[in-house]
Amino acid sequence: MAPPDYIIVGAGPAGCVLASRLTEAPTTSVLLLEAGGSDRKLTIAMPAAIPFVYQNKALGWTEMAGPAPFLDGQMIDEKRGRVQLDQRDDLQPGQSPRF
Ligand SMILES: Cc1cc2nc3c(=O)[nH]c(=O)nc-3n(C[C@H](O)[C@H](O)[C@H](O)COP(=O)(O)OP(=O)(O)OC[C@H]3O[C@@H](n4cnc5c(N)ncnc54)[C@H](O)[C@@H]3O)c2cc1C
Repeated sequence: MAPPDYIIVGAGPAGCVLASRLTEAPTTSVLLLEAGGSDRKLTIAMPAAIPFVYQNKALGWTEMAGPAPFLDGQMIDEKRGRVQLDQRDDLQPGQSPRF
């Protein structure tokens, strides 16, 4: 197998749009790498399940921001999704409803 012309790390909206645009040229090959799994999950599609999504280490990076001086040094969690955005008819290309 020939090496890809482009390697894109991260299948979030930016990575998916870039991969989609690059592969419009029929001779261009792209390898799209994603650390997370598919976003086709009931907990992601169901708004009431948002607390379960936020606590799930398989769906997010569960990173913490540094101590915030304006919050008395408290650290808040930085939500960042860790899912591959599967294309669906009911969403804009590459947009997961939650992340
Ligand atoms: C809690 C929350 C709610 C949001 N709600 C909305 C909303 O309702 N509507 C809206 O328009 N926007 C919303 N946003 C903003 C939107 O999610 C972001 O603007 C958008 O996801 C940014 O896209 P991106 O492709 O730049 O990055 P990301 O979506 O973060 O995609 C980056 C991808 O790269 C992957 N990745 C990172 N490092 C590696 C690695 N080393 N190897 C492989 N893969 C890797 C990650 O897993 C991730 O999937 C929300 C954001 C958050 C945090």
